[in-house]
Amino acid sequence: MTNDAGEREFELVIIGAGPAGLTAGLYAKRSELEAVALERGLPGGQLLNTDLIDDYPGLPEIEGRELAERMADHATKFGLQIDTATVTGIKKLEDGDFRITTAEGPVYRAPAVILTAGGTPVKLNVPGEEEFAGRGVSYCAICDGAFFKGETIAVAGGGDAATEEAEFLTRYVDRLYLIHRRDELRAQKILQKRVFENPKIEVVWDTVIEEVLGDAKGMTRLQLKNVKSGELSTLDATGLFVFIGFRPNTGLLEDHADHDAGGYLITDRDMGSSIPGLFVGGDCRAQLTRQITTAVGDATTAVIAAEKYLTELKEARQPAG
Ligand code: NAP
Repeated sequence: MTNDAGEREFELVIIGAGPAGLTAGLYAKRSELEAVALERGLPGGQLLNTDLIDDYPGLPEIEGRELAERMADHATKFGLQIDTATVTGIKKLEDGDFRITTAEGPVYRAPAVILTAGGTPVKLNVPGEEEFAGRGVSYCAICDGAFFKGETIAVAGGGDAATEEAEFLTRYVDRLYLIHRRDELRAQKILQKRVFENPKIEVVWDTVIEEVLGDAKGMTRLQLKNVKSGELSTLDATGLFVFIGFRPNTGLLEDHADHDAGGYLITDRDMGSSIPGLFVGGDCRAQLTRQITTAVGDATTAVIAAEKYLTELKEARQPAG
């Protein structure tokens, strides 16, 4: 429904149509809520960057793209409307509704919002990184580690994520080079200790990756540069896992919402944020791990909580008498 101000009115607006957003949409429509999901690209989120998924219960092997299509089809089967829209701002108004602006022009309004806009792994931005993404280059050890059994790989980064994920990856790989741009790791000491004591890991200090190289089958080697000596070298490796930071897509919020040091939004057990009516699920939520399964679970809780919130709001808004 469009109001007098030309805003598209819904009971619930879902921001992002990755696994969390599509699950939220499915449950919202199953509950017959007037809901819309806003997505700037194709539905699927990070699934579209994942080659093969082998840890979604009941689907021992499925391509990310196929799971994305199935999730989108499932949600639309229940009647979910997915609008192509790049959200530019989410503002809570004085009357309690949220106003959602988009780069394309249309403005949305709803008393409840579920933010499932995900996050973005920081990229190295070097030649070959994009070309070999999904064919050697990965940003998720749990998702892709098992595809590198017995191989030699590299991990980029020196923080908690790089060291923790490197340690995890050694259960699969034979040899792992941790490539760090400085001569000291940023990671917690305990994580550093595990890396130094792991016979499969070698730290390559003061080194940056200049290029990812490969052939039609995928990545085969890396072009490296020592930043102190300027020396160039190549490293034979079939995989590169990049862990140089992850940015949650929470900058769309125009009001303050409680978040942790990394910018991830803090929620209560019902996925409610510190802004009443704003629920959060998936990769932009502060939590232990970020998996498809956890995103789907978050979203389920978020919709049920949003529905309860809408019912209470309706009762409160009803004129007395
Ligand atoms: P982070 O702490 O920001 O570390 C990023 C690492 O990548 C740093 O070592 C940085 O090098 C390096 N880096 C950044 N940009 C780079 C570039 N362009 N080229 C090469 N290297 C680059 O990020 P994170 O490790 O993803 O962790 C994010 C947050 O999650 C942190 O707060 C972390 O504590 C938390 N976390 C915690 C755990 C845990 O507690 N177990 C696990 C994972 C993550 P420099 O050191 O030279 O800056």
